[in-house]
Amino acid sequence: MHELSLMANLLDAAAATAGESPVCALRVRVGPLSGVVVDALRFAFEALSPGTPAEGARLDIEETSPLFHCPRCGADYATPVGSYDCPSCGSAGGELRGGNELELVSIEVPDHV
Ligand SMILES: [Zn+2]
Repeated sequence: MHELSLMANLLDAAAATAGESPVCALRVRVGPLSGVVVDALRFAFEALSPGTPAEGARLDIEETSPLFHCPRCGADYATPVGSYDCPSCGSAGGELRGGNELELVSIEVPDHV
């Protein structure tokens, strides 16, 4: 389950960003082609966050759609997984431009810090 090491990296990044402050919430963006299982990521957060600045924090997971670029008509489009045809011209075979990300988007820290 590689989500454990991925979450360890996210927690490190959150702690580095927060500095001395505790973390109230983490917002993480997960692409459907990243191979990351969201439930496993949440489990990893529950398992790893105690003892870190993010202990008790909220985990917001933003799931993205795959992003494609159509080489025929030039459209950029997002599609649900399983349908990759261009919505503008119907062409298949768009180039993948995104959807495989796993990144820490932002964190929330308490107001008084
Ligand atoms: Zn097209």
